[in-house]
Amino acid sequence: MAEANSSIHYPEQSILEKLQQVFEKTLSVYAYCYGRPYTRLLLPGGSEDEINLTQEALSKDEKRTLVASFSDDPIENVIEGRCELEYARCRAVAIRDNNGRCVAVWLFVAFCKEICDKQGVILPKDTRVTSEKELDEAMPLVEQLGSMYFSLYGSEEVLRGEAMQLGETKESLEREHRRNEVLNEILELLESDQEFSKIIENILHIAGSYVSVSHACVLRRHQTTGRIDMICEWRNTPDADKLNEQFMDMEHKELPFFNDKPYTISSDSLMPDAFSVFFKKYGITAGIFLPLEINDRVSMYVCFLMLNTPRRWIVEELRFFNSIKRVMQSILNRRMTRNSLAGSYAALDAILNNSGCGFCVGVPDERDFLYTNEMFTGMMADPKDMQDFCTVLNETEGETAELGEYFAQAAKRWFHVQIAYITWVDGRRVRLATLYEITEAKLHLERVKKATYTDYLTGLYNRQRFESDFYVLLKDAMRADEGGSFLYLNLDDFNDINGGPGMRVGDAMLKETAKALLSICRSKATCYRIGGDEFGILIPYLEQDSARRLAETIQHRFEQSWKLDGEEYFCTISLGVVSFPQDGTEVSELMQRAQMALAIAKKTGRGRAEFYSDTDIEGNARRLEMERAMREAVEDGCEEFEVYYQPLMDAADPSHRCLGAEALVRWNSRELGFVKPDQFIPMAEYLGLIIPIGTHVLYEACRQCKYWNDFGNPNFTMSVNLSVIQLMQADILDVIERALKATEIDPHNLILEITESVAIHDMQKIKTTLQALRKQGIRIALDDFGTGYSSLSRLKELPLDEIKIDKSFVDDLVEDDFSEAFVETVTNLADTISVNVVVEGVEQESQAKELDNMKIDMFQGYLFDKPLTGGEFEKKYMNQGRM
Ligand code: C2E
Ligand code: CA
Ligand code: CA
Repeated sequence: MAEANSSIHYPEQSILEKLQQVFEKTLSVYAYCYGRPYTRLLLPGGSEDEINLTQEALSKDEKRTLVASFSDDPIENVIEGRCELEYARCRAVAIRDNNGRCVAVWLFVAFCKEICDKQGVILPKDTRVTSEKELDEAMPLVEQLGSMYFSLYGSEEVLRGEAMQLGETKESLEREHRRNEVLNEILELLESDQEFSKIIENILHIAGSYVSVSHACVLRRHQTTGRIDMICEWRNTPDADKLNEQFMDMEHKELPFFNDKPYTISSDSLMPDAFSVFFKKYGITAGIFLPLEINDRVSMYVCFLMLNTPRRWIVEELRFFNSIKRVMQSILNRRMTRNSLAGSYAALDAILNNSGCGFCVGVPDERDFLYTNEMFTGMMADPKDMQDFCTVLNETEGETAELGEYFAQAAKRWFHVQIAYITWVDGRRVRLATLYEITEAKLHLERVKKATYTDYLTGLYNRQRFESDFYVLLKDAMRADEGGSFLYLNLDDFNDINGGPGMRVGDAMLKETAKALLSICRSKATCYRIGGDEFGILIPYLEQDSARRLAETIQHRFEQSWKLDGEEYFCTISLGVVSFPQDGTEVSELMQRAQMALAIAKKTGRGRAEFYSDTDIEGNARRLEMERAMREAVEDGCEEFEVYYQPLMDAADPSHRCLGAEALVRWNSRELGFVKPDQFIPMAEYLGLIIPIGTHVLYEACRQCKYWNDFGNPNFTMSVNLSVIQLMQADILDVIERALKATEIDPHNLILEITESVAIHDMQKIKTTLQALRKQGIRIALDDFGTGYSSLSRLKELPLDEIKIDKSFVDDLVEDDFSEAFVETVTNLADTISVNVVVEGVEQESQAKELDNMKIDMFQGYLFDKPLTGGEFEKKYMNQGRM
């Protein structure tokens, strides 16, 4: 097949064939090799179908044109051919000898997988396919290996001639033959899939023993640090000194040859001082130092050294070493362009920049990265982040490092990091970190987390967050020998607002509460909505005094009105306060005690703060006992609750006739003895027991009134106190109607006393209820007037029949001008709106006298009588009016 040309020889056909096979296999292409002038040297390998297809793709004419198109001027070495098939590509590569003469042309036909897939082209079975990109990337390698072949074998004739001239004998020819064998052996390694370092080791072994040097090694200079490490070393005798240990971790400047140039130094060469010193230091007598390039930069050297014995290198050896170098260079380049991850920077870049992840490669204990892709440098745009990550990656010990989530401080970005251990192009074990940005997901998670820790209505932290914060705060305080306080808050009238005006107003109240608490606490403390109308405040590092001040500020705010949904409302707040560590050292214990303090605050009048540390435990135990006893008393049908009657006297009539009575409850407890209303009514209201107790009093009082009315006092009235809790009950109208029916009292003789505090609730609802009661003939009295929140103007709004001026005005009446003026104004106002005025707590004659001049309708007070039992009352007052 090979038609010998007069000027060019193509010896060692087997090697040429071998080379072509390597190309075809590793590049997945079909190759034709032509000599010049146009002589076909080799056909592609493959089935008949495959070869036919390549011929279809590349016409004979085109082949001829391509082979002829290379001049002997080595400007262009690769040109693109025209293909007949849309999915085929062709490249022609010029192979040149040492003088730059084009000695052969390789034509490559490639079938592009992507295009076939896209166009649905079905190729004959086992047809080799590739991509245009891979084809282009491989061309320099082809060029290099091709040229190498021709420089090794093409000029054999010339070499032989030289050898003859030098008077060399048959042995030298045999040596050459041996050399070719060695090179062949080395060329075969091109196809090896082994690690780069393993292949290099093999080459050094084959070459080193063939040329009989003492040492051969490959050194690598680290890109950024400039330090040297030895990738592999071969020694002629196993017990020879290891250069490895001596060269390791040197600065590359300490090696005189490491300056990108090749050096050949025989024992008798004249050498620069730096070399003399270097040779002497390591006992080197002769050496060959050849640079290897990666990405156009010399970063490795292959060295062949003689130690102790002198050596004068000959031309053949130099050629041989150069060939070795080229093979290594080719392997290196091929790894660079063709291999995957483990392989090379270039391939890494291409693949990794499109993968959407950041990649970097680090080496333990190095201060720099070995490789970073664009994405990674973008991720670590801040130099501080870059440095931090490098430290983390390179410091992690062993081969098990798993970074997981990583936060870049400076850029405030989150990454998921995975680390793989790979063998780098130079054979070292390195760490490849893959980074996915997860900042978005992380932020989303934070938001979700925040949502699970936030109360949707008020925006305050919720109970969950409260519990975990409390735990942390307490732990920190204990550790730092500090203290803190917890305020447990509960709205006093929330249920009325929520159940009355409605949820919307209730929600508004909760929001207002949150707002008020936040503005009061500011940065001093953290506020939480613990649930319903319960709130919590955690105060770190605070003495009880400051907790007291804060509690006072809060109480003060809650004594004022709230504007909700356009209306004015009142809603006080009760607080239970614990301080740690003195009141407890466990969250559960503190919670329990705060709850206890809060319950006491509620039971002792609401709108107040109870400090656990102030709580008198005895009193508390008494309260608990009272609660239990009260529940029992109610369960027993309220028999223990007795009704007393205090007379209401006609103020206009100088003889002060009794016109009616106020029913006042007394608790005659089996266990606790006689309990006054002031001592148990607030608790009964808090526990809701005022409803059955109040109903019981209503029935008793109505029955008594009816009896006395029938007894001959038909106009005798009965005043019954109605707690606001009762009034706000949805079924209050039914309850009263049933009482009227059951006792058969004339509704006109019944007066229901309500306190001013009703005004803090839903006025509209109260008005409606009161109007409904009045419609039945029942009269309404406003009790304790002047002590509460309402202003005189409010009086007009409520449908009232009677005003009861509080005892406190009567007490001061004689001395205090204001009290007198107040009573007078109220009486005048009441008169104009036709409302009766009752003055309570008249104890002295002087007081009665003072009031005589005013338009008062009735007096009530010890001056006339204390509350009496029904029997006593009847004896004293019922005969009067007997007809
Ligand atoms: P209140 O409705 O203002 O009742 C008048 C209170 O003043 C009664 O106290 C009465 O004994 C007292 N009092 C009358 N005249 C004088 C006086 O001249 N001097 C002094 N120092 N006190 C006088 P009491 O019976 O201890 O009742 C206290 C409070 O308990 C009542 O104040 C009322 O708010 C509540 N209460 C009593 N019975 C009931 C009831 O059946 N239902 C409800 N919801 N509350 C009741
Ligand atoms: Ca009353
Ligand atoms: Ca009163």
